[in-house]
Amino acid sequence: MVFSLSIRRRRLAAAIHPRPRSPCGLQKDADLTDLLFPAPALQTLPVHGRAGAYPVNRIFCVGRNYAEHAREMGAEVDREAPFYFTKSPASLIPSGSALPYPPGTSDLHHEVELVVALGAPAFRADAGTAERAVFGYACGLDMTRRDLQAAAKDKRRPWDTGKDFEGSAVIAPLTPASDFAVADQPIRLRVNGQLRQDGRLSELVFGVPELIAHLSTLYHLGPGDLIMTGTPAGVGPVVAGDRIEGEIGGLAPVHLMTIGPTA
Ligand code: MN
Repeated sequence: MVFSLSIRRRRLAAAIHPRPRSPCGLQKDADLTDLLFPAPALQTLPVHGRAGAYPVNRIFCVGRNYAEHAREMGAEVDREAPFYFTKSPASLIPSGSALPYPPGTSDLHHEVELVVALGAPAFRADAGTAERAVFGYACGLDMTRRDLQAAAKDKRRPWDTGKDFEGSAVIAPLTPASDFAVADQPIRLRVNGQLRQDGRLSELVFGVPELIAHLSTLYHLGPGDLIMTGTPAGVGPVVAGDRIEGEIGGLAPVHLMTIGPTA
């Protein structure tokens, strides 16, 4: 009774003072002794050259943001507006991880991406506010069960099982925005040393401030929110035992090793 009353009071308080962050904020306030099982660990990213970890809230991903990649997927970039899918924070694993070949697929693909990490609120932001909300940047991998994504597209179903699974978001340490500016840097991916993806950040159809501004028309963005900004052309399959390295000029590279399938 006391428990439900306090929950109700918190809900009431939240209704009166809505938070820009997700309703997860309510859960975080709960008395730890009330939890029925251990809460999932908070996901964090290290920050290059700095003490302290960056706590991850949400992971937004942009679809078709490089013209060449859109073409290789048999589509065109929608120049009117970007579109998004999400990955749950639970899908995040650090660079250098060994990823068991995931279940339910025989076509696991690599996608190297520029990741933007927000450090300030942004809602209905203009480009200037959007730019100032960036905490830092990282190199990441949007690992994709391409066969499941393709089947979902065919049936006009959501992409979740193709995109949001354990280990599908691999992100290297963040570089603070004071040490990096998006320009014409190379964005590349190698599998076992062989070059597979070779693009430039200048090929991004929707740039970083534009993406944040647009996404902020749909969500109350805030610190802890990540945006994976899309991948250049050259995506393809990996098999168990492959060594994947993604790099963006000026950022820490991202590494992943795929290993034998989950038992
Ligand atoms: Mn992607």
